[in-house]
Amino acid sequence: MELIFLGTGGGRVVACSQKRATGGFVIKEENFQIHVDPGPGALIRCIQNHIDVSKTKYLFLSHAHFEHVAGTWEIVEAMSGGGLRKGGSILMNKSCAFGARGEEIFSPILQEYWKNFLEIKVLEAGEEIDFPEFSIKTCRAIHEDPYAVGAIFKFKSITIGYTGDTMFSKEIAESYRGCDLLILNVLRPNNFKLKMHMCTIEAIEFLKYSEVKNAILQHFGMKMLRVGPEREALFIKQATGKNVIAATDNLRVDLRKFIMQEGLGKYYEK
Ligand SMILES: [Zn+2]
Repeated sequence: MELIFLGTGGGRVVACSQKRATGGFVIKEENFQIHVDPGPGALIRCIQNHIDVSKTKYLFLSHAHFEHVAGTWEIVEAMSGGGLRKGGSILMNKSCAFGARGEEIFSPILQEYWKNFLEIKVLEAGEEIDFPEFSIKTCRAIHEDPYAVGAIFKFKSITIGYTGDTMFSKEIAESYRGCDLLILNVLRPNNFKLKMHMCTIEAIEFLKYSEVKNAILQHFGMKMLRVGPEREALFIKQATGKNVIAATDNLRVDLRKFIMQEGLGKYYEK
């Protein structure tokens, strides 16, 4: 079982310049995979990372911002053989399915013809759905997209939380308790707060309340890249005593080794 980062960029400037890639990430098992938040360039990033998109059985969209969904069309086409192969599910929040009016106005990205070959599940925060290979529990997120969600992917051997884009809230952090690993979207460094997102100082609070021992940071904006995500990860690690790393584009984490070696700390000690 593997976790592959097809991009670690966040925000408009980084996504448009591709200073960091924005393909989302994939949780890969032997016979299937879950692709999460396929932003611009998702398909080409899969190909560059030798990911067979025809094995993508589940596609998860946390919210309707372009650097999380712009690659959806190409992934849907590739995972379904251009619509010829039935099967697979697309799990999306309400804004992706129906559009929304919040701080920003979103149109639906869901195409009617996808319903001919994919199962469509529209997720709201607090739902729990079982699939044959895993279960997903959606968590609340506070973001410009009023229906944005985070998710907890529960497999037999490991539970992975993904915050999606959200601002810090004690309650949201607590909803990730019990995860073995948390993927945390931290747009900005230090105390450079931006409404509806998290900076380093807020990520420290988030990790404390979530009680999760292992975290991987991603979704870096320009300010974060200038400072260096590795430096910020080290700062968070020292402040919390938890195992924290900053993801890099194309990073592959062997989750089986991760589980056997009791977490990210020992996994990265080599
Ligand atoms: Zn967003």
